[in-house]
Amino acid sequence: MAMLDEKLQDTYDDLVRRNPGEDEFHQAALEVLDSLGPVVAKHPHYVDAAIIPRLCEPERQIIFRVPWTDDRGEVQINRGFRVEFSSALGPYKGGLRFHPSVYLGTVKFLGFEQIFKNSLTGLPIGGGKGGSDFDPKGRSDGEVMRFCQSFMTELYRHLGEHTDVPAGDIGVGGRELGYLFGQYKRITNRYESGVLTGKGLAWGGSQVRTEATGYGLVYFVDEMLRSTDGGLDGTRVAVSGSGNVAIFAIEKLQALGAQVVTCSDSSGYVLDEDGIDLDLLKEVKLARRQRISAYVQERPRATLVEKGSVWEVPCDIALPCATQNELNGHDARALVANGCRVVAEGANMPCTPEAIDVLGQGGVAYAPGKAANAGGVATSALEMQQNASRDSWDFAYTQDRLEGIMRRIHRRCLETADEYGQPGDYVAGANIAGFTQVADAMLAMGV
Ligand code: GLU
Repeated sequence: MAMLDEKLQDTYDDLVRRNPGEDEFHQAALEVLDSLGPVVAKHPHYVDAAIIPRLCEPERQIIFRVPWTDDRGEVQINRGFRVEFSSALGPYKGGLRFHPSVYLGTVKFLGFEQIFKNSLTGLPIGGGKGGSDFDPKGRSDGEVMRFCQSFMTELYRHLGEHTDVPAGDIGVGGRELGYLFGQYKRITNRYESGVLTGKGLAWGGSQVRTEATGYGLVYFVDEMLRSTDGGLDGTRVAVSGSGNVAIFAIEKLQALGAQVVTCSDSSGYVLDEDGIDLDLLKEVKLARRQRISAYVQERPRATLVEKGSVWEVPCDIALPCATQNELNGHDARALVANGCRVVAEGANMPCTPEAIDVLGQGGVAYAPGKAANAGGVATSALEMQQNASRDSWDFAYTQDRLEGIMRRIHRRCLETADEYGQPGDYVAGANIAGFTQVADAMLAMGV
């Protein structure tokens, strides 16, 4: 990472001072600020209007108590968050994450990333994120329902189809969104479909939303390969994670002729040289909600590696689809040594700054999540469009729209990187293209 110019360094120092201990937020902000040197040099009016310091401070941060009763009748208390970061381009938009590690810094880093990701989609959505330190693992349906109802009982007052539109993220899928939507409807007496995305198909959801992040990631990777005259057919791919993003990335990769040999969860990683059996993986993770150890029990030639990193498996393409900072400098060195050519992020910020440097030095093409995983939120915006017009589109049409959006994001990244003198640099392209649109909207709307 280069030295920041003086004004950007001041902004960064100020952000660290105002948000103590929020390491992931500092990391996400530094990565963006690091790309903006050439932008402020070319457009001093952004500096005059203090656009960057304004963007670094969320418009609104909401922290609330979430009391609920467990199956034994005991009262549990969790903490809920919603960070409404930027509404320059549209209503705040971004998922909810339920995981015991969630604190304000997690939500701020995700919300900050979301501003630029959402801008890159070219669709009218601002940036926000929310969540809770609630751990859905091992909880009954009834417990999850009561937690979601309590969470929404507080959050509903801040939401609205033109105000703030949450969706899912880690720990929040169709089941949780159903309980959240039901409670919103009950409290407000409004069937306001556009207030949440990722809804079920029977009640205002969109085709392809479930698959969108994974499919979109693969379309993006396909474009990366095409820009160097390659293709996915016959490539060997390592994927981490086994949630929604990983599963549907694997599905699209296999459809396009790639061989996917890994997936993972917190119990370790699966190596399956015959190629991941997708039906079995879906059964284990989505239907039965089990650990991936159940996958290897039913697939004798596959192995579960409990201690070790999935990135030690030789591959042409690596797709981290689990969580933040899951791929470090050591992992990146192993990928480079094993001849990996492409790393694209399905998760949000899965590569550490050191890993990104190592990949760059090793000649590996690297696509940041804010570009490569934007298909999920883009399809959320398509869901909002359908809700606003009380329409529902078919699978093929929705998938075409998603594919077009991902291919456009890819082009925009490369064109912007060229324009700012950093050809082939997806990080610079994504950050600058995402930033300039938000900055122009902020300038137009005044302080
Ligand atoms: N959680 C997803 C993301 O990180 C999707 C957000 C949404 O659909 O609003 O982009």
